[in-house]
Amino acid sequence: MVQAVLFDLDETLLDRSLSVRMFLLHQHARYLDHWAHVPLETFQARFWELDSFGYVHKSIVYRQLLEEFEIEELSAEALMREFYRECNEHAQPFAGMVETLEALRARGLKLGIVTNGQTEMQSLGLSVLGLNERVDAVLISEAEGLRKPDPALFARAAERLGVAPEACLYVGDHPRNDIHGARTAGMKTAWFPNSVAWIEEVERADHEICHLRDILTFV
Ligand SMILES: [Mg+2]
Repeated sequence: MVQAVLFDLDETLLDRSLSVRMFLLHQHARYLDHWAHVPLETFQARFWELDSFGYVHKSIVYRQLLEEFEIEELSAEALMREFYRECNEHAQPFAGMVETLEALRARGLKLGIVTNGQTEMQSLGLSVLGLNERVDAVLISEAEGLRKPDPALFARAAERLGVAPEACLYVGDHPRNDIHGARTAGMKTAWFPNSVAWIEEVERADHEICHLRDILTFV
């Protein structure tokens, strides 16, 4: 029986695609003098392609953007620092996030978040979404010194909630980092496909959801 539900953050609770688009809208406006020849939609679309769901370092993304749009006066490093510092100020939740977390808690389940990323950036996202008050444990890879898919990070999360890994359900969007990692640690898994396609060599998740509230149907 499931006693705890653990979540990934980006593209699982936090709608990263929408959040990044909002941040880019502000960044585009801030430097309009330099890239007035690049329409906002072009800037957002090209960033999104180069970013590859967040798996490409932003120094590479911005260097490429400045080169393609032939902008010499701006520094890729400065734009990158701005991204890591400010992007999550624009964090947006997926539909049903608050209601689902509240309903799970009302059923007496423990809740946690396990995310890869920088402590400062992820902490800002958690705080903007009001998640610290809604879960019992948060594990950020940089602070923990472990990264998903390392099963040791999932095991640590279960331990922090005082629940056996076998009694945990893990919800995430990444087949290898989330589903494979959590399963290796002994957890049940639910895939929320918002970013990368399924990776064929990875064993399928126990559940697949189209909306966060779908979790309520199997716990
Ligand atoms: Mg994710």
